[in-house]
Amino acid sequence: MEALKVLALLVVALLSPVTSSIVYQDETSDATLSPGDDEVHVRQYPSPVTVNSRHDQPPLIVNDSLITDFMEVNPLEVDGMELFEGDIMLTKEQWRMLKEERKFQNYGSELYKWQPGPSGFPLVPYRFESSVAAGSAAANAIAAGIAHWESNTCLQFEQTTNTAQPHLRFIVGSGCWSYIGRLFQNFPNGQQVSIGRGCETMGIVAHEIGHAIGFNHEQSRSDRDDYVVIHFDNIRSSASGNFNQRNTIDVVTYDYESIMHYSTKAFSFNGFPTISTIDSSKNHLIGNRDALTFNDILLANLMYGCITSWEDACGMSSDSCEGEGYIGASCSCVCPPDTTGSNCETPIPPPAVAEDGCTQTITTETTFTSPSTNGLSCTVDIQAPECHTPVITFTQFRLYQKVTCENNQACCYYDSLELREDYPNTASTMYCSTDLAGQTITAGSQRVVLFYFKRWSSALLEADITFAQVPGCEPATPTTTTSTSTTSTSTTSTSTTTTSTSTSTTEPPTPPKCTIEVHNGVFYWISPLFDENYPNGRTCRVSGYSNTAAFHLKSIVFDLDTTDCQDYVLLTTLFGKTQKYCGDISKINFKSPSFNFILDFVTNDMDNSMGFNISLAPRITPNQDCHEVITLEAGQEYTLDSPFFGQGKQKKKAYCEWRLVAPEGSTIQVKQLISRIKPSSDCNKDFLLLNGNMEKLYPSETSLQYCSVFNTMDIMTTETNMLYVAYQKKRAKTKGFRLKAMVV
Ligand SMILES: [Zn+2]
Repeated sequence: MEALKVLALLVVALLSPVTSSIVYQDETSDATLSPGDDEVHVRQYPSPVTVNSRHDQPPLIVNDSLITDFMEVNPLEVDGMELFEGDIMLTKEQWRMLKEERKFQNYGSELYKWQPGPSGFPLVPYRFESSVAAGSAAANAIAAGIAHWESNTCLQFEQTTNTAQPHLRFIVGSGCWSYIGRLFQNFPNGQQVSIGRGCETMGIVAHEIGHAIGFNHEQSRSDRDDYVVIHFDNIRSSASGNFNQRNTIDVVTYDYESIMHYSTKAFSFNGFPTISTIDSSKNHLIGNRDALTFNDILLANLMYGCITSWEDACGMSSDSCEGEGYIGASCSCVCPPDTTGSNCETPIPPPAVAEDGCTQTITTETTFTSPSTNGLSCTVDIQAPECHTPVITFTQFRLYQKVTCENNQACCYYDSLELREDYPNTASTMYCSTDLAGQTITAGSQRVVLFYFKRWSSALLEADITFAQVPGCEPATPTTTTSTSTTSTSTTSTSTTTTSTSTSTTEPPTPPKCTIEVHNGVFYWISPLFDENYPNGRTCRVSGYSNTAAFHLKSIVFDLDTTDCQDYVLLTTLFGKTQKYCGDISKINFKSPSFNFILDFVTNDMDNSMGFNISLAPRITPNQDCHEVITLEAGQEYTLDSPFFGQGKQKKKAYCEWRLVAPEGSTIQVKQLISRIKPSSDCNKDFLLLNGNMEKLYPSETSLQYCSVFNTMDIMTTETNMLYVAYQKKRAKTKGFRLKAMVV
């Protein structure tokens, strides 16, 4: 690709007012590192990215997986009709009734149920509209969802061509949605169920069919407050109606795991949970989208009289099945998941560790390691002995980065850790990214609940948990040292598989490359095969050019092989200054006055590690206009003052760059320089740089560097018609500079 095209692409991709660009190349290590025209990987994202709204993509770190619930990416409205509770289509009449009296129909009513067919069992005729292509993902998922309902209930689904009857019309519409129940009066010729893009799983189809046969969302039941707490403060204002309760007659026990239950962060505007289970050990169950549960199936079988039909056909009674067990189609007991045996007479003891391998109660000092499973909403209930308080040291803390939430604030949406001292109330702060890496937190009370929400495949969390004595506290009862513990640490298995390239193919495989992503004007530079281990013997280079912005480099993730720093990232900035980064560093945070830099990633031929994701942000120092191109006329004299010059001590930092431009053919003479810059060794803290050769990186051979206090006349004259001036001030004692220039 032509360099010019590259530039144009990047400028378009960068939707911030700062114009900066990145030149990017990636090549094998034996090639020379000269600025090249290699392929550029840039993807444009909508800006600003708002999560929770309409199929916008989060700022993806490539080569990983980030899971979402379908309710989060569903559209808010379809064809001008708002979706109720995220995925329910209502008729205009239902909306009106809802607004007037907050309830609109009795779902249990015969009127909304599917009617028996010739076999005597309820019959749901359906057809695929033309948008559902035969053999498509949607068609397959719909078939699987239908089969799932048929094999567990007495509902029969029959594909039909007769449109003059109530039936389900499956479409690939916008999002996943359905009406509730059979709406015979509104839709005598069929009602739509949309299985749009991203909805093509058996579980989601089963959920939407659930609505179509008359199911509500589980947490709208009238008894839900006995099981869950709704955090109304965290719900989007437009969505608070989605958490209304109904007057329901609840014939089966509240089911956290129901396929009809909202997930933890449903309709959250700020990334904090909107639903918590009162019992801390149940949080991980809500938001199931895999399959119908025993209770989902039981409810349908009760609603549609399936059990009575089977009892009659089998000549048996469900009384023979214990507990909630019942006689199923095969004339044997269908047992709840916690019992087994021909009459459901044998209880299955609950597992020592919860099903997610993470949720647990900790009462003794231990190391907690989160499993690598994705989609966790793991609750670790830490209970210290009397007069003790939990002390938590995070030895591994690498969660997905912050994203922009609906309040336009940076929030921990995809991964988050909360420390709740007042469970089930949510905490006031959430952590993600590398916020708590290496940090120790002492709880303010005897109990603290870690609520860990993990949706990024590469997230890592490990913590040492100890208990500290509260000074001056005397236990009312003597402490026993051996208390029962349900603690179990499942070790995260670190993937050590290296990708082996196929040798039999004639075409050599394309070597994996570093990539660049742009999000909200920030570039993300990502190592090849990030998250799987980068390949050996690779080199990539990225360089940035801008005359209007400072540079801020931060590591999102940085994990290179630690052997003798042989795999490294080398940052070259102004005046030939370099920084070498290697090993597993929790935080890199580097600023430079100029968005002119070179970054090289070099690996040796052995050993590797996960790699890096580094953010490269073009920044303007807040409230300071200190990146400027100043055009001068022939003979003009110009005085350039740094911010705060002559103002005494100033705590504020400054990262500035100016370019003085004289008419073509003339030069610029620096006639006087007054410097009040506090000295530092190698000028590594505060400095002023001058270059008259139009060299963006201010090479040391042809540039002047100052970091001391002096007044000097006749400093230099430029070789070209431009003078580049870069200035960095980190310390209060640096009081700036005044430069007097003249066009000659
Ligand atoms: Zn739903």
